[in-house]
Amino acid sequence: MSVTIVGAGPTGLMLAGDLAEAGIDVRVLEKRARETGPTRGFAVHARALELLDVRGLADTLVAQGFPVPEVRVAFGDGRGLTLDMRHPESRFPFVLVVRQGRTEALLRQRAERLGVPVVRGAEVTGLAQDEDGVDLAVRTADGERTERADRVVGTDGAHSTVRELLGVRFGGHGYDTRILLADVRLRRELPPAVNPFVGPDGVALLPPYGDGWYRATVWDRARQDAPPGGPVDAEEVAESLRRLSGGVLDVAEVRWSARLLSERRQARDYRVGRVLLAGDAAHVHSPMGAMGTSTGLQDAANLSWKLAAVEKGWAPAWLLDSYEAERHRAGRATLRLSDMILRAAVAPAPVRAVRSRVVPALAGVHAFADRVRLRLAGLGHSYELPDGLTVSDTTGTRVDDLPLTVGDRPARLYELMDGVRFTLLDASPDGAAAEAALPWADRVRILRVRGDLPGGAQVLLVRPDGYAAWDDAHPDAEEERTVLRQWAGAEAGGPRP
Ligand SMILES: Cc1cc2nc3c(=O)[nH]c(=O)nc-3n(C[C@H](O)[C@H](O)[C@H](O)COP(=O)(O)OP(=O)(O)OC[C@H]3O[C@@H](n4cnc5c(N)ncnc54)[C@H](O)[C@@H]3O)c2cc1C
Repeated sequence: MSVTIVGAGPTGLMLAGDLAEAGIDVRVLEKRARETGPTRGFAVHARALELLDVRGLADTLVAQGFPVPEVRVAFGDGRGLTLDMRHPESRFPFVLVVRQGRTEALLRQRAERLGVPVVRGAEVTGLAQDEDGVDLAVRTADGERTERADRVVGTDGAHSTVRELLGVRFGGHGYDTRILLADVRLRRELPPAVNPFVGPDGVALLPPYGDGWYRATVWDRARQDAPPGGPVDAEEVAESLRRLSGGVLDVAEVRWSARLLSERRQARDYRVGRVLLAGDAAHVHSPMGAMGTSTGLQDAANLSWKLAAVEKGWAPAWLLDSYEAERHRAGRATLRLSDMILRAAVAPAPVRAVRSRVVPALAGVHAFADRVRLRLAGLGHSYELPDGLTVSDTTGTRVDDLPLTVGDRPARLYELMDGVRFTLLDASPDGAAAEAALPWADRVRILRVRGDLPGGAQVLLVRPDGYAAWDDAHPDAEEERTVLRQWAGAEAGGPRP
């Protein structure tokens, strides 16, 4: 029972903590000897915060960041639009602007608290798998060694060595326009919002860190041939921001900057035998929408309990395959959304001519704006379950953080969950559903509750990643046992007659 995770970014660290929580022997290999520099991802969206909430980490992260409730787009011709991110369905009605290093630090502390060794200065350079396990060649300051694990997860980022060693195609394309990133201070403060300025030459996105500094992410067609690499001259940063915002952005100070290529790519396979891919190793897209970190965290939450189930020997045959089926589709949707936004922002001349009229009109259509909001926040995604497991409109959908009463105590669903076990909520008067689930108590948190379950159900089985596995308004014990075997394997001690 051992898993090696390659890469200590947010995806790998979340996965490592979950596996340790589930009792799996897990270690993380990280090629960097020390922490990286000041900045990378700047935002965590509501769905990722909900997953961190289940792990007891969200409130700490929110306290370290700056919640902004809206995206305010300015088109430079006086027109604009506001996308409201005050999600009524979530405890986190905002975009959290927070440096990625803080998210990583929280996840690393959790993993280490749970006993996970995070081995720094250990670069994976080779991989070979057989029927029983995976051998990794690891380069350290002391030389090369080989390590063996039952399974390996490559969370080693966009230039994933694991993906390359597997020979998995990373299909897609790069964008012509380079991205300029900078942390800047402005002479005139902007509203507490993600602030995109869309000009004829491109777009500048300026979310505030809340301490007077802003993260500028800039696509400037006038500078599209500048070679990637960094840092970028402070005067160039200031000039780009001034021009793209029509003079609104007046830079006082630049403390960090870089220029990089932006790509849209997705791995063809998320799993090859005993090796899996997650996070940026599986998909990359432009920072437009700031969905990179959040998408990786959702991959981790989807994979961890499935991998733990396989390692513990109770996983139904289909379960691990569902990771690729579910997350590949979700990754594709994220890539499409960030691509759509970027294309609208750095559009060719004919689109630019109508953009400032068409986009606000579209955003004024509530159903359209709401779809974009839910997809950006990661709240709108549902999973297609295998045949026979979709029993209602609720199954496969995200379960809200339901207000419940357990015994005499009020509680929220997410504080009752732990990210690695199923949660069975039995709101029936006789508690028969809770009773029937007892043989699965090592994998299912069984709770008799009072409260309204979605769709008028009396019983609800919630997956460890917070999606509905089964619900029933008139639960039958035999049917429930069949469902539990399909999801959580045979009951402890083997199937009962
Ligand atoms: C410069 C930059 C700016 C970005 N800006 C934004 C943004 O504004 N908003 C946003 O949402 N996202 C942004 N992103 C993307 C975001 O940072 C990623 O989506 C997120 O970090 C993905 O997390 P991850 O854990 O999957 O991979 P990563 O964070 O990339 O972590 C991968 C880890 O694997 C390690 N590693 C690599 N190869 C090996 C090996 N062979 N052996 C051992 N370890 C290895 C790396 O050192 C690294 O620590 C940016 C990315 C970059 C590079």
